[in-house]
Amino acid sequence: MVIIAPDKLFIQLVFILLLFLPSTEAQNNKDKIFPSGWQAAAQEMVQTQIAERGVKDARVLDVLTQTARHKFVPPEMVPYAYNDRPLPIGEDQTISQPYIVALMTELLDLSGTEKVLEIGTGSGYQAAVLSPLAAEVYTIEIVKTLALRAQEVLTELGINNVHVRWGDGYKGWPDEAPFDRIIVTAAPDEVPPALIDQLRAGGKLVIPVGKYWQELKVITKVSASEIDERTIIPVRFVPMIHPRKTIVEEDLN
Ligand code: SAH
Repeated sequence: MVIIAPDKLFIQLVFILLLFLPSTEAQNNKDKIFPSGWQAAAQEMVQTQIAERGVKDARVLDVLTQTARHKFVPPEMVPYAYNDRPLPIGEDQTISQPYIVALMTELLDLSGTEKVLEIGTGSGYQAAVLSPLAAEVYTIEIVKTLALRAQEVLTELGINNVHVRWGDGYKGWPDEAPFDRIIVTAAPDEVPPALIDQLRAGGKLVIPVGKYWQELKVITKVSASEIDERTIIPVRFVPMIHPRKTIVEEDLN
């Protein structure tokens, strides 16, 4: 029997090949999901789902083009991250449809100097979109695992003007009030009074209100005692819930 001993060079070659195999495969998978890169997917999303439906604010369109939405969804949802629909993010919750994120952001009418409160952090995507458009973003999530995961992704993306709190959004964030803008991404039956209280005079609140089907509203606090309310479109959000047990709030960063 003849045994052919592989020479040194062969062993080295096999070793080098093995070293590169897993990363090449990972790269191939990524290429298959976004053949022209995620930026191209984001650009198409903005053009066909958002701009063509009437969102005009160039800064909003720009931010949605540059925000990696696929980072905010679970691995099995990555292929659908730029599709025209909300997606499950675990814990029976969803990341909103891109158009709704864009519309609500446009309705906030931000100039870049504002202190913004978001209720319903969820995946953290809406907060990431707000980040370059506002001075500071405070966001509250009632499901702790979601709050922690959102915080992780925001940190990974180097976003440091978003502050995540695990807590009950019905209470707002009194120690940081007043806010110039408030956005609520879960639907309460009625506008929570604490949120109106924590809005600065002249400030705006963008909120879906109602039980099953809701209406998206823009509420402007004209002065300490005067409120103006505008209804935009019918929408469907997950309900804004009350905590089953008392939550001792926790700031995650
Ligand atoms: N803005 C999110 C989507 C939100 S889905 C995103 O960009 O992904 C609505 C979120 O509101 C859910 O994560 C839900 O857990 C949360 N929520 C529901 N009731 C709440 C409450 N009372 N306080 C804070 N968050 C709440």
